[in-house]
Amino acid sequence: MEYHDQLGLSRERFADLAEQFHDDSYRGRAYRRLPDYRKAVEKGTVLIAGTVVRGFPKIPRCLVLDEGIPQHFNREIAVEEKLNGYNVRVARIEGDVLAFTRSGIVCPFTTHKVRRLVDCEAFFDRHPDRMLCGEMVGPENPYTTADCYDVDSIAFRAFDIRDRESGESLPVEDRRAACEDLEIPQVDLFGVYEPAEAVEATPEIIDDLDSRGREGIVMKTVDGGQQLKYTTSAANQGDLAFAFSLPFDYGRDFSFRRLIREGFQSVEFADSEVERRQRAHGVGESLLVPMADAIEAVDEGERLGERHTVRAEPRVVDALLDHFHEQSLSLDIEQDRRIEGERVLTFSKRIQRSTDKIDSYLDGTIVKE
Ligand code: ATP
Ligand code: MG
Repeated sequence: MEYHDQLGLSRERFADLAEQFHDDSYRGRAYRRLPDYRKAVEKGTVLIAGTVVRGFPKIPRCLVLDEGIPQHFNREIAVEEKLNGYNVRVARIEGDVLAFTRSGIVCPFTTHKVRRLVDCEAFFDRHPDRMLCGEMVGPENPYTTADCYDVDSIAFRAFDIRDRESGESLPVEDRRAACEDLEIPQVDLFGVYEPAEAVEATPEIIDDLDSRGREGIVMKTVDGGQQLKYTTSAANQGDLAFAFSLPFDYGRDFSFRRLIREGFQSVEFADSEVERRQRAHGVGESLLVPMADAIEAVDEGERLGERHTVRAEPRVVDALLDHFHEQSLSLDIEQDRRIEGERVLTFSKRIQRSTDKIDSYLDGTIVKE
């Protein structure tokens, strides 16, 4: 079958879309990937070796649970934990298990880790035409920084099994059973509810997750067809703190949206006056403290960046560094150690714009606004 058939598009439509795909390769195998959202096809969709690996769909969000849940769902939903890591789709292509990140890049580091963390061969022997979707979490990874899970280095947690080509999900119950059978670790399930029951149950779940610094929930129809997400204050404020540690690199929309979420949550969760002030304090701290730290750091001559640590066999870390080099990322190596045969590397992805802007304001640049 040709790509356009597999994607369910006419030849003409596919021809229009084809220009948006980027050429890439992994260990000599060429592939094409769609790095952004397009109407017809999910971001991160990959064309490789004559087959399609569908992108993971964007999950809509509600700002209020009370009206949002019954608006979005009219049948039973499973409520699962939303983990704060990075999205990975695992597929077997011509016999090779590959891990694709959100935008469709085959990541050599993640590919290596997933093969060690999951019995991939057993999974694909049983589900050759499917992809295993999950979140990579834990403090030692090259993309995200959340460290609220009981994970020493890095772990995989499954949250979906989809048809590789069409993207259609297995029903939640079947997916959970399939993962359990193969001992594939998965996200927590809080329960299965009718929409009205979920409205009752979810605020408590959110409060509990919030108190543990966790990110939130994803609600899914039990057939896996529809999803909806909602996040904790801890996640909203954590994102704000991150954005303001690099104040000129994260778009204003990014921060604005998170501020708005806090406003709606404060009202829906009926914050008392004291609680509302505490939330306000938290929001303010998450904006100002990291921003002031960043300004001070630049003042002291530091370069701003996103710091990550990875731990793996030396050849895997080398492959990751080559991979970043190919993407023209500038890295500053901060620490490079060998521990029990593994290379433990701490590096910072240089973030130029915030560094330069802060530097120029510190030098007295005048703003006309
Ligand atoms: P995008 O919506 O494009 O993925 P984003 O990074 O803003 O961008 P998030 O707000 O993190 O998206 O929410 C969607 C992501 O949540 C999914 O892509 C997936 O990686 C992650 N996720 C974590 N836990 C789950 C879960 N239980 N079910 C589904 N997705 C989950
Ligand atoms: Mg995320």
